[in-house]
Amino acid sequence: MKYKVYHNPGELIRELRSSGSYYYLDQLDPGETWVGASNFTGNYLRKYYNLTSQQYYNIVMYGDINIKLKCPWCDKERSFGKIGHGYNITCGSPSCNSKQSNKTRVESGTHNFLTENGGSETMSMIQQKLVAEGKHPFQNPKVRELQRLKNLEVQHNLIENGIHPFQKFESRAKSNRSSESKYLSNYNKIYLYKAEFNPKLDGYIKLGVTYNPEIRVNENRYPLSNIETLLYSDREFILDLELDLKLRYADRDIYDKLSITEAYPIQKLDEILQFINEYKDNYKGSSTTIENQEIEK
Ligand SMILES: [Zn+2]
Repeated sequence: MKYKVYHNPGELIRELRSSGSYYYLDQLDPGETWVGASNFTGNYLRKYYNLTSQQYYNIVMYGDINIKLKCPWCDKERSFGKIGHGYNITCGSPSCNSKQSNKTRVESGTHNFLTENGGSETMSMIQQKLVAEGKHPFQNPKVRELQRLKNLEVQHNLIENGIHPFQKFESRAKSNRSSESKYLSNYNKIYLYKAEFNPKLDGYIKLGVTYNPEIRVNENRYPLSNIETLLYSDREFILDLELDLKLRYADRDIYDKLSITEAYPIQKLDEILQFINEYKDNYKGSSTTIENQEIEK
């Protein structure tokens, strides 16, 4: 079975619902399917993809189902925690864990196991003492500031990674792809076309998909001008291609200003057409015919 990450490869998308439990976006599904955490890891991944949660994590995060991540202290592999947590830093053996936690303590300034008289103290005893003496790292303004920045970064990552996954251009483009797939589900073959925006957007062309280019020419609200079909082929192939084009070439500034995901810089047109040709040649679909067609205006 071949897997494709349709949503945010390299990030695990989940969101905390008001019920207090996490929902995971099925990033291998071109649509937008959210599944409660316990079902997702307990049954869903196995049932629909025959994957363990670790394998799913590997595919989404690294694009490699069998990736091997090495423990920094030995030659073994890093152990896998829960899906939302990902890989542990070490292989999980007590000796590597203890080396790692000593390193962390040294780095955070809390490592101080040996007392002057040669005895040892527990971490919490040491921390209590540090707090009493005003020397605990969290009482140090510099460390507090670092911690504050780190928390901000964590919050930022949460927003980027899943709390609001559809703010970003990439997420918007992917969610458009799934709505187009639903909207066009009655048509096995559709067109990819290029056109001018109307009103004209200087320096940019529009690339879009439709089941009938005539409709776009005669449309009342925003009739496109100079529409030209580039390909006519299987719906899902065209939608995959369109998404790849958007992710590679669509202009992010135009998206930020006008919320349009289909504006492409004219100076990239040659490169874009070449990309389309190579994409078409590499497509291994079973029953694809590619046609070019001029549209009567
Ligand atoms: Zn190890």
